[in-house]
Amino acid sequence: MTLTPKNSGWIEVICGPMFSGKTEELIRRLIRSQIAKQKVSIFKPSVDNRYSEDFIVSHNKRTIKSICVNSPAKILEQASGSNVVGIDEAQFYDNTLIEVCKKLAKSGKRVVVAGLDKDYEAIPFGPMPRLLIEAEYVTKVNAICMQCGDPASFSQRISKEKNQVVIGEADKYEARCRNCFIPYNKEKIHG
Ligand code: ADP
Ligand code: MG
Ligand code: ZN
Repeated sequence: MTLTPKNSGWIEVICGPMFSGKTEELIRRLIRSQIAKQKVSIFKPSVDNRYSEDFIVSHNKRTIKSICVNSPAKILEQASGSNVVGIDEAQFYDNTLIEVCKKLAKSGKRVVVAGLDKDYEAIPFGPMPRLLIEAEYVTKVNAICMQCGDPASFSQRISKEKNQVVIGEADKYEARCRNCFIPYNKEKIHG
């Protein structure tokens, strides 16, 4: 993959469960674009202000300056002068994000999107499935299962809340492999 689009742009999606290194990988790609003197703009939804309003922060404490925006239309507006557009926690945006990413890519920009592919019940999360079919490049990263050490592609909620969106960290979620993952409803049935 080259760093700079020559004609039309493209969409890259980085997906996986919590703690899998999605943000780390997003930051790595965006910093390389900055080194290549590209104009980079980075967005995240403000629903996720776990660490900071102005920065995207990975679990291993790498950071990059970002802008909090809740409506994808605003991303389109604010990214107009950039060559590269980074979006973290994409699962929290509504489906209008899909058209926005397509427009950005069509106008020649490199769009790098990171987000959870599955929610805590292992159901496709927000606009992610449709972004995955639009993307030219897809990277799926795994975490380490906190129960057995195998590759983990599920996010186990270990708190009792039932909303799809519950912001939290290791206090509320654990990366799990296919065998160790217990869907919330099953857990309830089996006590
Ligand atoms: P994501 O954005 O996917 O939630 P981050 O990029 O913020 O992930 O953080 C990835 C980092 O989290 C890893 O490099 C590692 O230091 C740390 N980490 C904590 N728990 C786990 C785990 N269960 N599996 C893998 N990495 C973990
Ligand atoms: Mg992240
Ligand atoms: Zn496991």
